[in-house]
Amino acid sequence: MSAQSQHEDFAGNRFTRRQVLTAAAAAGTTLAASRAAAQLGVSRDLPNVSPAPYKRIAAEEAWGPIEMFREWKRVLDSNPADEPGFIALWRNLDPAGNTGFTPRLTDLGPNRLAAMDAAGIDMQLLMLTAPGVQVFDAATGTAIAADSNDQLAEACRDHPDRYAGLVAVAPQDPRRAALEIERGVKALGLKGVIINSHTKGEYLSDQKFWEILEAAEANDAPIYIHPREPSPAMVKPFVDHDMHRGDLGFGVEVAFHTQAMIYAGVFDRFPDLKLVIGHGGEGIPYNLYRIDRTHPVRRPDQRSKELPSYYMRKNIYITNSGVAWAPMVLFAQQVLGVDRVLYAMDYPYQYDIEEVHAMDALPISYDDKKMFFQTNAERVFNLSAAATT
Ligand code: CA
Repeated sequence: MSAQSQHEDFAGNRFTRRQVLTAAAAAGTTLAASRAAAQLGVSRDLPNVSPAPYKRIAAEEAWGPIEMFREWKRVLDSNPADEPGFIALWRNLDPAGNTGFTPRLTDLGPNRLAAMDAAGIDMQLLMLTAPGVQVFDAATGTAIAADSNDQLAEACRDHPDRYAGLVAVAPQDPRRAALEIERGVKALGLKGVIINSHTKGEYLSDQKFWEILEAAEANDAPIYIHPREPSPAMVKPFVDHDMHRGDLGFGVEVAFHTQAMIYAGVFDRFPDLKLVIGHGGEGIPYNLYRIDRTHPVRRPDQRSKELPSYYMRKNIYITNSGVAWAPMVLFAQQVLGVDRVLYAMDYPYQYDIEEVHAMDALPISYDDKKMFFQTNAERVFNLSAAATT
């Protein structure tokens, strides 16, 4: 049984003993195997394998409270025309469906920890799964964001060496969102901000949202822009061609969002703001030469002072979520710097233990590998206190 088919067979709530043993052996750590076995009440007669000499911190891992799923359903049923992309995405998430994602997304307990153990993941950086609260009205989104932050912070307090989390906010109410960032970082101990890309077709490049960016910068809270399907004004051809997900639409959406922020001068106005994007930087590193060549930096009405590559190497970090592919990681490290590329698994959407092996086997030095798996995440998200627990 391959790791991939094993992953697809997971029901979401329980792993069989055979699955745990197979996964633990593949994960390559006795400790992880023992933890997984203990969590699931099975014996510890597991293979003796070597632990990794670095922590594996997975920096784009998804969760969501069940209340949000119920509210999503209500919104889609009542206003189906408002979110054409989300309607297309919903069939992957509907708890009434059979994808198995929802039980794993809503769980912050032993099953998630066992899955991490089986894959050798020491810590997850958790964030509210897309589209989060950004499809709700402002009051509903603000309330569900605050409640989800309380739940996530409690899980992080219960498992400080296994979980860290990002603050969810509703950009629909920028003032309340800015206050929630401060509460989330200072009172709840969360480590950054999750923005699930566009909010009703609008982007953080719009100055109406800059109060959020100001709060993120002031609280040293990196903003992680996670994909969702493209905004209503551009999603139709993507849906028509069934390309609104990870194959094209997600990446186009976040690359657009990131470049729009650069072009709007966000990083000149907020020079210490940190932005994190996943999936190998959503194509931007690969296209960076051409982006610079065609950037109208010298045009009088252009608002960014420097070329996009300047901000990509100064303000922006990337993870390899969904892309466990050595050529991409090596290229991104070469183009952006080894200090700017972070490991991520993308649990539960891409829970594939063989991909952990592939990243362990990257043909780079031990120092660079430790930065990739551990110390870049600790530095960017201020995890060091929890990570050394
Ligand atoms: Ca993800």
